[in-house]
Amino acid sequence: MVAGGWARPAEAWIWPEHRDIAVDAIQGMPAADRAVLDSLWASLRTEAGPQLCPTLVSTGAAPQTEFGDWSAICLDFPSYPALGGDHSCSTAELRAVTENAEWGRKVAWVAEWSKKAMAASPDEGRRTDAWNRSHLAMQYVDPDYLTRAAGNNAHFLTPRKKVEERETLDGYVTRTLGRDEAVNATAIYVEYHALALRLAALWRAASPAERPDLARRTLLAEGIALHFLEDSFSAGHYAATWGSSAWQKGTHDLYCVEGLTSMTWSGELFAGYGDAHMTNRDRTQAGLVVRTSLAQLVGAATGTLAVSAAPISGAEKALEDVNFCKATSLPVMPVDPVARSAATATLQGSPVPSGSQDEIHPPRARADIGPFVGVVAGITAGPALGGFDTAGGWRFRTELEVGARVGYGLDGVLTTTMDGQIWAQASFVDDPAQLDASCTGCPGGVRSNSAIPRVPARSGLKLVFRMPYYVLPFDLILLAPVLLLADPEAAQHVVFAAAGGGLLTIQRPISTSWGTFQFMAGREVGMTLWGNGEPDQFIATPTGSTPQLVDFQQLELDFPVFEWVPPRAAATNLSLAAEFQLGFSVSLAPKAWLPQANEAPYSLGPSWFIYLRLRLDGRKYFGTSAEDWQN
Ligand SMILES: [Zn+2]
Repeated sequence: MVAGGWARPAEAWIWPEHRDIAVDAIQGMPAADRAVLDSLWASLRTEAGPQLCPTLVSTGAAPQTEFGDWSAICLDFPSYPALGGDHSCSTAELRAVTENAEWGRKVAWVAEWSKKAMAASPDEGRRTDAWNRSHLAMQYVDPDYLTRAAGNNAHFLTPRKKVEERETLDGYVTRTLGRDEAVNATAIYVEYHALALRLAALWRAASPAERPDLARRTLLAEGIALHFLEDSFSAGHYAATWGSSAWQKGTHDLYCVEGLTSMTWSGELFAGYGDAHMTNRDRTQAGLVVRTSLAQLVGAATGTLAVSAAPISGAEKALEDVNFCKATSLPVMPVDPVARSAATATLQGSPVPSGSQDEIHPPRARADIGPFVGVVAGITAGPALGGFDTAGGWRFRTELEVGARVGYGLDGVLTTTMDGQIWAQASFVDDPAQLDASCTGCPGGVRSNSAIPRVPARSGLKLVFRMPYYVLPFDLILLAPVLLLADPEAAQHVVFAAAGGGLLTIQRPISTSWGTFQFMAGREVGMTLWGNGEPDQFIATPTGSTPQLVDFQQLELDFPVFEWVPPRAAATNLSLAAEFQLGFSVSLAPKAWLPQANEAPYSLGPSWFIYLRLRLDGRKYFGTSAEDWQN
């Protein structure tokens, strides 16, 4: 239904992690260096918009204020790497969100709230839940949040070459900057850092009137550069260097949680975790390298780093203006040689990325995204009420099902737990006879003998459909195609929101260490056609007259309401889950007749079923992979 190409939101370190790395880097600087950054900040502030903090690093950017008290929030320089990339796509957008646009303050508030929720999570399940909520809250305050990251591979690293080719860092940087090379984190860092160094050199030589503008452009360029330098340290981003969006997303999520060993370009052992799982050690090792980058900026602003102070070239201006979320490759910019070797020196402390498809690379995982076929088996049990000549009481009902499915998964589209299942299922269902547990005042009394059951044993065909919805059940059937034609970005918003639990997010799967819990009424509906073909048979036992044979056909509609999915296995093209559902069904009044009395109509009335269901759901996503072990 919806193309899979855009399902790639993976922005690396979450907002507070990005900011914390930069805070560490600045706080560890020598006082003299820090003073230069402070003066750049002061220079910018003389003509900046109202949202900037008074100081380079400020607790106002990690707000402890109440929700809604936006004016108490400000944005400081460490917020630049957090906002540059995930919440803005160019220097102009980063300027707007830091200096003027109120939603920038809201993003800072949500970030701090997410940080606290994650810190308070007792286990990985709750952490995933906090991560999920953070995504949804970010999307709420910044509606372009998810589409921004989906556009290209900017936040990821280009794979290294084969070991035997002995690629140096300098060779790697040259390759990432190549004219036809897809936009990538290393190239963005090198080009924006070089731009920042050039602007800092110009700032040093500029008149007081020119300085605020140059200070702003310097800090905006370095802020964007640092975002992508910091991304390079997230295990998900140096591990998941290639592959389709489902594989890249799955591999990214796996290594962000599990961590991955590599080495730095300077040859030291390196290991780290990733997005939403940053440890103090991760922060320190990234912070040290960010500090190197900032020290070079100080060097350019004081003249100790001999970067050219010639006027900004057309190519450099083009970089300042590019939209790096949408660009497929960066504008080719002749990088100032001094700036280029400075950027390379910084990258020496960053991890070497994983090998490509043709080279040794870490095992990959696949997100539950894309088209699949599946098999299901289930058992449903609970009390049934009404119909079949009953006036009161209840009976016990069970149902067995086996079936096949075809569908499209969007389950792992944001984190590992979203409900983006879209599928159609055809099942064979088999119901043993239903015997009365009680039947107060029923004609003929309680039928607890299987010779004359209340409802006979029967089997039938069941069709089940499931899809997320935005406002009303199954509204995506109409909304998605209409929006895809009219406004593909809006379509993406709506589908993401639906997978995230709908407009009001009340159907969000809640992750715990016991699996996910979800209120999912309206996402799934089943239809069973009873007695289609050969009619089902009921024996009526009217008081005081002889029993009668009744033929009937019935339509049953099934509505699961709550679902619990214990931790599921989804690693490669195969995924296996057990699902427990609590729900109800209604069997409409059957079409019934007396076959031995000229098919005279007979009234059986509607009946109800309240159930608990256990279902096993095995899926095979299309495609092959080396990660599926075969023998
Ligand atoms: Zn990023």
